[in-house]
Amino acid sequence: MNLNYTEIMVRYGELSTKGKNRRSFIMRLAENVKGALAAHSEIIVRADRDRMHLYLNGADAAPIIEKLKKVFGIQNFSPSIRVEKELDVIITAVQELMKEIYTGSETFKITAKRSDHGFVQNSDELNQTLGAAVFRAIPGIKAQMKKPDINLRVEIRENGAYLSYETIQGAGGLPVGTSGRGMLMLSGGIDSPVAGYLAMKRGVEIEAVHFASPPYTSEQALQKAKDLTVKLTPYVGKIQFIEVPFTEIQEEIKRSVPQGYWMTLTRRFMLRITDAIREQRRGLVVINGESLGQVASQTLQSMVAINEVTSTPIIRPVVTMDKLEIIEIAQEIDTFQLAIQPFEDCCTIFAPPQPKTRPKLEKVHYYEARLDVEGMIARSLAGLKIEEISPDQAAASQAEAEFADLL
Ligand code: ATP
Ligand code: MG
Repeated sequence: MNLNYTEIMVRYGELSTKGKNRRSFIMRLAENVKGALAAHSEIIVRADRDRMHLYLNGADAAPIIEKLKKVFGIQNFSPSIRVEKELDVIITAVQELMKEIYTGSETFKITAKRSDHGFVQNSDELNQTLGAAVFRAIPGIKAQMKKPDINLRVEIRENGAYLSYETIQGAGGLPVGTSGRGMLMLSGGIDSPVAGYLAMKRGVEIEAVHFASPPYTSEQALQKAKDLTVKLTPYVGKIQFIEVPFTEIQEEIKRSVPQGYWMTLTRRFMLRITDAIREQRRGLVVINGESLGQVASQTLQSMVAINEVTSTPIIRPVVTMDKLEIIEIAQEIDTFQLAIQPFEDCCTIFAPPQPKTRPKLEKVHYYEARLDVEGMIARSLAGLKIEEISPDQAAASQAEAEFADLL
């Protein structure tokens, strides 16, 4: 008997409680699941009010399970095996499956459920029949009703009987996109990818905005930001990557402003430009990786001075976290190793020797008055480069690298 998984049953997370938005939540989740599984075109996704069913159509379950674990809005899911809705077929399947999973000491329980009320046995009878069948197949196995090691669920539905014994924890959170769109200021560092991940976890669809200052910043630094973006795609499918030319602005600031204020002015330009991009692309918020007190730009006084340029809400998911807490998440989402590669980004290269940790607003305004702020921003915005980043890109560049090895 073939006991490979034939479908995966997905239980919704928090969205179950969102009464009237439920429908759009479920539809969005279904899209995100399809996006995450785009490489497996044979899979059919069916979402209904209470559950989502993924019909595997012969696809191997293992890689799908790994991908599903990353989709926000899923509480948990159970891979299951569909067999014919005949009592003796079900009995044999249960016996064989139990023999496969039993390693010699586990306790078990059968939890039968009959959605198809025309079936010959009801749930209680099924529990008895199938339990007895397991005792016959595995002499000495112990049943346990409370917290058994193996809880084998058998569900009789219209189109077959479904066996499942694993419940896999989902990522929780809300389906990405259900909270609207935000622009993630993505450097090549540890913090901003984590910030993006946490915003996505609460349903925010992100677009990555990256400031590059060639030739001061290298092609590798840009590639690193794109590679970090690839690491964020499994949670959503695709992410728009927006490269902002920043060289002129940084040179101009360096030329016209005392070094103590470079950092504050630079950050104000970044925020203004990100905010303008947000408006063009119908985003609602800006997200960054600022963490309180980490560096000069991240004192509360600096935040006030930088934040002054916009009234758009800025989400700072890691603002109160310790560095080690942020690193822990970076490791979980596999961005840490990439982030610590030593490619200089636009801020490190122009880092002033002694940035003001308490910048004064009057001075900020005074120095900015020397610059053609509008013109500088307009020229930068005119040079945006937008690229769609998808999960397969990692695989593609990996393949290229392997190919290059062969040459
Ligand atoms: P990160 O680890 O994210 O680089 P950080 O601790 O190094 O953060 P800063 O370099 O002060 O802190 O940057 C603060 C935030 O400003 C970053 O988290 C990011 O959101 C944004 N930022 C910095 N540099 C860039 C850049 N080149 N492009 C886009 N956003 C940037
Ligand atoms: Mg940084």
